[in-house]
Amino acid sequence: MAPADTKSLPIPWPDDAEIKVYTGGCHCKKIRYEFEHPDIYATQVMNCNCSICEDRGYLAVYTPEDKFRFTSGSDDDMAHYEFGARNVGHRFCKVCGTSIGPAFQKRGMVIVNTRTIDGVDLDRLKLHKVDRRSV
Ligand SMILES: [Zn+2]
Repeated sequence: MAPADTKSLPIPWPDDAEIKVYTGGCHCKKIRYEFEHPDIYATQVMNCNCSICEDRGYLAVYTPEDKFRFTSGSDDDMAHYEFGARNVGHRFCKVCGTSIGPAFQKRGMVIVNTRTIDGVDLDRLKLHKVDRRSV
């Protein structure tokens, strides 16, 4: 699967965006990651009310899969959960249960739960509310 184009992500990256490197991970620090993304306070963050996003507390940003890497731990250190059409593999730390994010494997992108980014200021995020509960 080729990495997703930054223009085809659910929240497309602006053309002139300065790309930053963000780090984060789970509570017990077994899983650590870094990924590239435009300023998360300048772009929108997906706040969806579907059953999985609400239960897991996702506030999501999207990056092509080749712009995300683990710096500690790996995919094998996470539990995987799928449901419904099984298009999305939801990942969480097997030890502490932190919901780092799911991966849209079939679409070449990684979804990162911004709550797990180091030092994130949730009050500064521009939330893009999407109503998927009623569809
Ligand atoms: Zn953990």
